[in-house]
This record gives sequence, C-alpha cells and structure tokens, in this order.
Amino acid sequence: MRAIPATAARYQFGAAARVRRRFGAVVDDMSGFLAGHRSALVLHPAQSPTSSTTSAPRGERDVVPRLNALIAEVSATNAFQRERMDGVVLRSLDDLRRIAPIAKDDLLRDQHAHPPFGRNLTYPRDRYVHLHQTSGTSGQTLRVLDTEEDWDWWRGCLRQVFTAAGVGPSDLVALAYSFGPYIQFWASYEGAGAVGANRVALGGMDSVQRLETIREYAATTLVCTPSYAIRLAKVADLKGLCDALSSVTRIICTGEPGASLPAVRSQIEALWQARCFDHAGLSEVGAFGYPCPEGGGVHINEREFVTEIVTPGGEDPVADGELGELIVTAIGRRGFPAIRYRTGDVVERCDDRCPAGHAGRWLPGGILGRTDDMVVIRGMNVFPSAIEQVLREFDELGEFRITFYTEPAAMDEVKVEVELAQPGQGRAIQARLRTRLGLRVRIVPLQPGTLPTPGSKARRVVDMRRHSPRRLPADRRSR
Ligand SMILES: [Zn+2]
Repeated sequence: MRAIPATAARYQFGAAARVRRRFGAVVDDMSGFLAGHRSALVLHPAQSPTSSTTSAPRGERDVVPRLNALIAEVSATNAFQRERMDGVVLRSLDDLRRIAPIAKDDLLRDQHAHPPFGRNLTYPRDRYVHLHQTSGTSGQTLRVLDTEEDWDWWRGCLRQVFTAAGVGPSDLVALAYSFGPYIQFWASYEGAGAVGANRVALGGMDSVQRLETIREYAATTLVCTPSYAIRLAKVADLKGLCDALSSVTRIICTGEPGASLPAVRSQIEALWQARCFDHAGLSEVGAFGYPCPEGGGVHINEREFVTEIVTPGGEDPVADGELGELIVTAIGRRGFPAIRYRTGDVVERCDDRCPAGHAGRWLPGGILGRTDDMVVIRGMNVFPSAIEQVLREFDELGEFRITFYTEPAAMDEVKVEVELAQPGQGRAIQARLRTRLGLRVRIVPLQPGTLPTPGSKARRVVDMRRHSPRRLPADRRSR
C-alpha cells in the first residue's frame, strides 16, 4: 500500500503493482505531488467508475429471489429494517442501491435508544440462542444475537474458510484466542469442526502455555491474528520452544488487516515454516471472505454475500484497481440482518480472476485497512497498514509505534518508533518509506524490548494531531 494525494485520487493508489502500472509515472513520481503538482491525477479520468457495482456469483436468478424473500420477511417483523426497506422489491442486484446503506453507528444508536439489543431483530427474543458482542476497541460495544438457524449459517461460512485452507479430519486446529464474548472465536471453532477437524481452544493461557499445548497435541493448524502469529513465534524463540512450531503446517489469520499483505504473510510463513491464510468477517455481518490458497488474499463468499466497493463514506463505485470501502449484504442471515452494511474495510477492487482462475470476486490484498484508520498527512491519504507493510520487509525488527502529530509550525508529521537490533537500519527504513509511500517519515530507533507488546488486536497507532483535516464523518468511526 502507499499514500496518495487526497485531492483527486482517493483510493486510486497502488495496493498492487498492477495499479502502479496503470498510473505509471503519475503515481510513481510522488515527489511531484509533494511539490504541489496535484492536478496531474485530475488529467487522468480513465479510471471513472464502471456501471455495475454489485458482485454475486451464481447469477442474479438465484440471489435476487433470496434477497427479496429476506427483504419481505424483515419488512414484516423487523422494526429497524422496515424503516429502511420502504416496500423495495428487487428486479436486479443493482436495485439494492435503492436501500440506503447503514454503518455500525446506526446499529449502535438503535441499541442505545432501545437497550439492550435494539430493534434489528426479525424474531421474538426467545428464538435467539447466541449472544455475542464486538470488541469495541475504538467505540461502543455492539450486541449481536443469532438464532440457531443463523448459527448454522455462520458455521457454513466458516466451513468454507477451513475448506479453502485445506483443513480436514486429519487436522488438529489450535485457536489462540482469548475467547470471551467475541463471535469470531466461536464461529472459527464451529467452522473447524464442520470440516471434521479436531480443535483445542487456547483461551485463558499465556503464550508459553499455548506453545506447550500446540507441541503436546502436535496441532497442525493455528488460528489467530497476524500480529499474534508473529509474537507467538518470537516467544517460542525466546523461551526455547521452537520445536512447538514444527507440527504447524498452516496458520489461518483473522481479526485485523495484515495476513494478505505480502511482507506480513512472508514474515509469518518464514517464522513458522508454514502457510499463512487470511479470511475476513465482521460480527454484525458474517464471515464473508475465505482464503485463496493459490493467489493469496481473500475471495468473497458469493453464495452468501453480495458485495459492493464504493468510495469511502459515499456510494459511487470505484473502478478496477482502485481502493474503496466494502459494502456487504448477507443473503442468509435473517435474525439479525445485514443489508447494505458499510464494513469500514478498505479493499482493492479487482475485476480479474485470481491466478488460479477461481470464480467469484477476489480481493488481492484482503482487507487493506480501515476507512477510520486513514489519516491525511500533508495532503496525502495514509494508512498505517501501508507503513506496517514496509516495516515488515525488514528483518530483525521488533515492536513499533506509529504516531501522527502536529509540529509547532502546524505541519502534520509521522513518527515511527521502532525497535531495531541495528540502529543504523533506521535510515534504510526511512528511505524505503519515502520511495514507496512518497512520504517523509521520522524514524526513532529504540532498543529491543522498549515498546509494550500490543494485545491480540494490535493498536500500534497514535494520533496526536491538533486537528484532523479530513477525518471521515464521526458516525463512521467506531468499530
Ligand atoms: Zn482464488
């Protein structure tokens, strides 16, 4: 990923080399933008949006009737959704756009007004048997209810994730999560069981206990966040437990962006000598993305989800090769519906098939970042994950912390504190960030072990800017 000028080409930057080719010298010569030559991109309107925004697989003949059945049912009994539907009957997938999209904050406001569960419930409360909540790392907690039928649907979505990663009855899957009320842990546990694998939950254990458990049972598959996969391998090295890694042949990551970024994936694969797979989902939507074993990144599960990729906060479709926000409609989740739901996830629209030619929409970089993580520095859209991607390309790099701040001269700046075994590496990191992102970043080398280790959902970004000139609207920010 890389930064781009905020003016003309939001999200038109190269998350992949393919995009750099498209923009050629325009995007590669970022110094021109820094010097104020921003009109360069305005002169390249070839990336105007294509007309069709929605993506669903087996043709609309199957999907549209299922969606109409969903809309009819929720319009009858779901007070929250009824207000949005207004008698909509779809004739084609494009008609979905007649329904205004919603975001997490809409659900949060509804739950605040109608505690504790809000009105997005299609059935009487006694039909619901699963209660989960979101982690609320940067906002309020959202409560999510599922019926037994919807839980079966979740299981099926996760089954596809584990099937794509090649997990089967001969596998033992170790889930290195805290568990607790978070849906992804339990849904992953269900999905691994659905493909016939045995499972061991590593909740309530520290990293050493987890490594010992993986070794004792010779687990073949590890499920965790990408940052925890890296941390666990480093703990194994520190504690002399490297033999605990040897039975693991694959790592399935979730919970934060990263596992589809080549540098992060290759670091995990090198540390574990195992294959790394990504997948994607949200508590309030479902597990919509499963890994592509050949091409990396994730595929949309188009049997169960309709997706659109639009300008963040807007509804205009982005063109092939551009980055945008993913809007998702869950076709089969009825009790707590997600219809045109703004995920806040930034993905690259790719109209090509994946390298293996699999059917269905392919997101080459998986989830690349969060729209609410994006910051504007000196006119450039910057994703912390873009900086992380560059940092991960350097070996022997410890923890890091990215700080956005305002200088006395009122210029917004970026500082990266990074633990380096060789402090001289800082200059090379700075140069690569400048080349790749077109962004001047101050590097502060630190002794290894100086920075705190983030929790399982890594928060390595601090925003101390005096004012945020181009934040997205406040109602889109919480997760
Ligand atoms: Zn594929």
